[in-house]
Amino acid sequence: METILVLTHADETGAALSKGSLEAVTAGKELAARLGAPLTIGIVSANAASTASVLGNAGAKLFAVSGEAFAQARYASDAAACEGLCRAANATVVLAPQSSRFSRVMAGVTHRLGGAIDTHVTGIGGAESIEVTRWFYRQRIEAVLTRTGRPWFLLLDSGTHAAISGAEGEPKLEMVAVELPALRTQVTGLRAPKQDEQTIRPDAKLLFVAGAGWTKKQPDGQVHTAEAGELILNFLRASGASLGSSKSLVDQGGEGNSVLPFLTHLNQVGQTGATPRHAKGLSTCCHGEEPHVVGWRFIGERRAISLDPNCGWTRGKADVVYVADAFRVMEKLNQLIAK
Ligand SMILES: Cc1cc2nc3c(=O)[nH]c(=O)nc-3n(C[C@H](O)[C@H](O)[C@H](O)COP(=O)(O)OP(=O)(O)OC[C@H]3O[C@@H](n4cnc5c(N)ncnc54)[C@H](O)[C@@H]3O)c2cc1C
Repeated sequence: METILVLTHADETGAALSKGSLEAVTAGKELAARLGAPLTIGIVSANAASTASVLGNAGAKLFAVSGEAFAQARYASDAAACEGLCRAANATVVLAPQSSRFSRVMAGVTHRLGGAIDTHVTGIGGAESIEVTRWFYRQRIEAVLTRTGRPWFLLLDSGTHAAISGAEGEPKLEMVAVELPALRTQVTGLRAPKQDEQTIRPDAKLLFVAGAGWTKKQPDGQVHTAEAGELILNFLRASGASLGSSKSLVDQGGEGNSVLPFLTHLNQVGQTGATPRHAKGLSTCCHGEEPHVVGWRFIGERRAISLDPNCGWTRGKADVVYVADAFRVMEKLNQLIAK
């Protein structure tokens, strides 16, 4: 019989488990219920007792590695913690969030335990066996994988499962002692852009995409890039949406054209860009060509604003298309949100 372990870690505040961790717990619970297998949740956190309260009634054994050494993401301490939890739980299947913290260490942990690992897992199915799905070739081919080798580590993509809720309670924690190697890395601080400068927000409900139209000549024969930048940034601040871009728009920077200074290639959505997951998407001044729209595979409801009534969006790629001037629509929308 399989023994399932879900590895979790605290978020940046250190006071709560990360959203991806809570999503992995849901996946673990579903898998354990289907296989009738025991479930253990392993917690890596500076103060496991407080972060574990959200899982007190999760119906799983709770193991924890706790202490100041685990407050920060660091390869040596995180790998030792995960290895210790896997050995204590005697796990045959290990689920973990595909966070930067765990992605960095999990291949090494798998190697230490002589196991196998699959990453970017989007679903776990199968009747009596375990079948996991993941996408290949820029989200064009979905594969179903099985393995006989154990322990089998599965890193789950964020947004593929609902975060566990309603499981709060007094946690019964079993502390796992870990012998740390010499720690050569000390994290002395974090430098990150201010929240309102950070335009890529994976947890946002809405993806707002800007296309090259924002920097094209408008009916008055002029470009209005500064106005476009202001409209977009005001909308992002007010709505908390994540900012995506078409390739044409981010490429313009290299050609010395009038560009939106807050966009980089990291914002690019599509075949040669990102494939983010959001409940809704709003595309503006973008033609909706296939190499762009392929990046919208995991966007729930799609809307677009384009001047072109024959654009790709109107030909079946969006749920709703507004054939309208995006400058005017976004101006009005910002006024409505401000109210
Ligand atoms: C191998 C390959 C890979 C690619 N990968 C990607 C990728 O990953 N991502 C990507 O995005 N593209 C990718 N492309 C490019 C893609 O094919 C398109 O060229 C690109 O998406 C077009 O960007 P756009 O719609 O912003 O610009 P345009 O095609 O120039 O369209 C601009 C649109 O804005 C509209 N517009 C102008 N002013 C207004 C206004 N005031 N209000 C409303 N609408 C207005 C116009 O009507 C027009 O429809 C790739 C291409 C290739 C060949």
